Amino acid sequence: MSNERTSHVVLTSHSNQLFKDIPQVKWGEKDPEKRGPVIATVSEKENRNAIGSHSGSYTVYRALSIASGHFPKAHRPELTNTEGTASIKPHDAWFDESKIVTIDPWGADVNIHFKKFLDEGYNVKPTIAVTQAHLHIPEIAQAVDAGRIKVDGKIVKENKEIKCTKIALEPVWYLPGMAKRLNIDEGELRKILFQETGGMFPELVTRPDLKLLLPPIGSTTAYVFGDIDKLQDPETELTCRVHDECNGSDVFGSDICTCRPYLTWGIEDAARTAQRGGVGLIVYFRKEGRALGEVTKFLVYNARKRQEGGDSAATYFHRTECVAGVQDARFQEFMPDVLNYLGVKKIHNLHSMSNMKYDAIVNSGIEVVNRLSIPSELIPEDAQVEIEAKKAAGYFTPDDVKDGEELNKVQGRKLDE
Ligand SMILES: [Zn+2]
Repeated sequence: MSNERTSHVVLTSHSNQLFKDIPQVKWGEKDPEKRGPVIATVSEKENRNAIGSHSGSYTVYRALSIASGHFPKAHRPELTNTEGTASIKPHDAWFDESKIVTIDPWGADVNIHFKKFLDEGYNVKPTIAVTQAHLHIPEIAQAVDAGRIKVDGKIVKENKEIKCTKIALEPVWYLPGMAKRLNIDEGELRKILFQETGGMFPELVTRPDLKLLLPPIGSTTAYVFGDIDKLQDPETELTCRVHDECNGSDVFGSDICTCRPYLTWGIEDAARTAQRGGVGLIVYFRKEGRALGEVTKFLVYNARKRQEGGDSAATYFHRTECVAGVQDARFQEFMPDVLNYLGVKKIHNLHSMSNMKYDAIVNSGIEVVNRLSIPSELIPEDAQVEIEAKKAAGYFTPDDVKDGEELNKVQGRKLDE
């Protein structure tokens, strides 16, 4: 078996690229050897049983490394000592082909699950990795100082850092399952994915036998506080936030929205839950600007601030739709896949005011006991427009909901102020 990248171009649009002896993937199969490994290597094209390439959006940077001569063509990952610091135990949802359709549940520790295939020379790469982390977050240090959370030396260390396990998950899309969940035809889904990526993956339309796509999109990260094995126990209290990326707020502290306060408050409560014997879970999705991207988001900010009457809660969603065509492109239908991968059956405290997230979680068979929205004292002044608009649109809140003139009166800062 050659493990050299060939320099000649093989057109995937030619259907004579069908290879009958590649390991088949039987999604939902219980035994990993029978389920089969996901093989998306481009170095041995004849073995591929998936469309696309590893590393999500970073696949394009790998191409640049190769183009500039920095990436050794024959490189294969050497996986010694890369095993996870904790393992997610297989459970029922892994064996249901419709429960998890955007992640490969066998994507971690492939050197264990798919040793037979690696020994035979197949280039099987992980799509999930599990490690440990200490989080140093100013808001958590403040919570310790304010007495809201105590130092216990285990979850919260003496230096106010929080210890946790973190899990990185790259997308592996099982197209028949995704089509079913969206209630559309698989062929139609493939055709539109092909067209809207500018024809990036011809196999979407020429290779209906390949059921998996590794799309060039961002990954997802799960942060677990407390005993990871208890995630699968519905009797253990679970506090959970499913958070969609907002770089401006999450990282840079921009005050136009509530994203960072929601995130840090979620982490604080997740750690507190772990301290009383429960588990905390924060899932971070790379779906910037409601998955419309940051350019669209900044355009919307300007349009909101410059519109007649100023930035108002009454027109919050409308301005996004004007610029982007839709209000939201996050497809929360697929968000619970991570929860189902981890074995979550019951969330006691869900930190989110989004009905789309709540409905998706409940529809995926996970019970939600309490819904928690952000305490009002944590909402930045300029983010009142967003929060009141969301409440008026029916997002979950225990507070009063404004409408009509009251909603109009909730105004954000003007540009240059
Ligand atoms: Zn935000």
